[in-house]
Amino acid sequence: MLESVRLRLTLWYTVVLALVLVTLALAGYFIFWQSTVKRTDSDLAELSSAFLTTLMAEAKDQPGPDALKSAAQVAINEHRFRDHIFTVLDSAGGLFITSLDLPSSRSASEDVSPNFLASTSFRKFAGASAGVDHLYRNITGGRHGYRGYARHFPVNGQTYTLVVLRSLHPQKEMLEEITTAFAGAIPIAILLASAGGYFLARKSLAPVAAMSAQAGRIGAANLHERLAVQNEKDELGHLAQSFNHLLDRLDQSFERQRCFMADASHELRTPVAILRGEAEVALSRATRSPEEYRDSLTILHNEAQRLTHIVEDLFTLTRADAGQYPLELRSFYLDELLLDCAHSVRTLALAKHIALIADAPPELPLVGDEALLRRMILNLLDNAIKHTPAGGRVTLKCCSTGGEYALSITDTGTGIPFDLQPRIFERFFRADKARSRGENNGGGAGLGLSIARWIAEAHHGRLELTRSDATGSTFTAYLPATPSPAASSG
Ligand code: ADP
Repeated sequence: MLESVRLRLTLWYTVVLALVLVTLALAGYFIFWQSTVKRTDSDLAELSSAFLTTLMAEAKDQPGPDALKSAAQVAINEHRFRDHIFTVLDSAGGLFITSLDLPSSRSASEDVSPNFLASTSFRKFAGASAGVDHLYRNITGGRHGYRGYARHFPVNGQTYTLVVLRSLHPQKEMLEEITTAFAGAIPIAILLASAGGYFLARKSLAPVAAMSAQAGRIGAANLHERLAVQNEKDELGHLAQSFNHLLDRLDQSFERQRCFMADASHELRTPVAILRGEAEVALSRATRSPEEYRDSLTILHNEAQRLTHIVEDLFTLTRADAGQYPLELRSFYLDELLLDCAHSVRTLALAKHIALIADAPPELPLVGDEALLRRMILNLLDNAIKHTPAGGRVTLKCCSTGGEYALSITDTGTGIPFDLQPRIFERFFRADKARSRGENNGGGAGLGLSIARWIAEAHHGRLELTRSDATGSTFTAYLPATPSPAASSG
């Protein structure tokens, strides 16, 4: 049940509200009680002073306990207030006079029992008052207890104690009423607030439910659909926008993947068709001369090689995309690798009557994946030789500048048309499809430069076409001289 955010929010809200209300009620109760006690104490002090003033005035010039008693009676009669009891104790703590014994004053404290002054709580208070002047204390008795105040006063060399008691009945009654009101109002307030909270939570989470339903309907087939953004400035609007951006990226990635698959199958179809056609031609007659068989097998072999090449390139790119191509890093000298690559393609260049010049200063140390960098250089050299007419020149150079190696391959070929230059690093892109495919065994699938660029980037470097015009092209790979050991396949 608590799996719903709506319910959880409401529950939290209700619990917090209940705690706040109960704390407020308790604090209110306590503050009210404290201020009531304070007010009662100051009333009692005032009343006792007025009482003693009357008593002293009446007892003046009349020595003796009887005169004091009658003076006290006058004072009691004069200060008769509802719910008040006046009692005078003699110096030994014994009862001297009390308003409870005077019938005229009885009605003033009707809820008290006649033997209240003999109760333990009063006796305790009276006993404590002997040692403490101005003693305030709560005393049990009657319906709701009393607030007692005791003060000493001297008469004729004797110390008497005046005890004024005030019933707490009205205050307690008021507190009871307040408590009853709180007890009734708090649950109702909590109930109403939690219903309101649930309604609000429901209303504010409704767009989330709508988004979730909408998102649930989006799949590979309708990846172009987007969530509706009701208010782009609020949090839910931000959420919907972030989700839509994620869908944008997914859509683009899906689109790229779709194109890649379509291009890949298209590229694979051609050599497979050639293989099948060639085999069919070879098999169409019962017997053929050994030369004819050799020719057919040569074609089959070349196409199979081309097919292997394409599949390997595709596999490399797929692993690179998934970040699963582990680089085998080790230290080696880049100049040695360059000379080695130039040596590998020298027969190719010679066959086309192309001059191959390799120029690199000695001892260019590098940490990297030597096999992958070899593949990058060979791809670039292969392209340069492929696109340079006989009698031309291919130059391989390397120099070290500003903490990086600039490795350039320049040819005197036909160049790449200006408008196609931005696209040559795209997968399956060939500037001249007909010519590329037509070349004997040399027609690539348009993956060589993509792979070369990925290799440079995997070494935290970059590969750029720095120049291409009618006089030829220059590709430059920039590689950090000391790549971080954490160079990854991504
Ligand atoms: P491919 O394997 O088909 O050569 P690449 O990715 O290596 O694919 O090259 C992409 C395209 O860029 C080539 O088809 C070619 O048109 C063009 N290209 C690459 N290098 C050169 C170059 N040195 N001179 C002229 N065109 C080039």
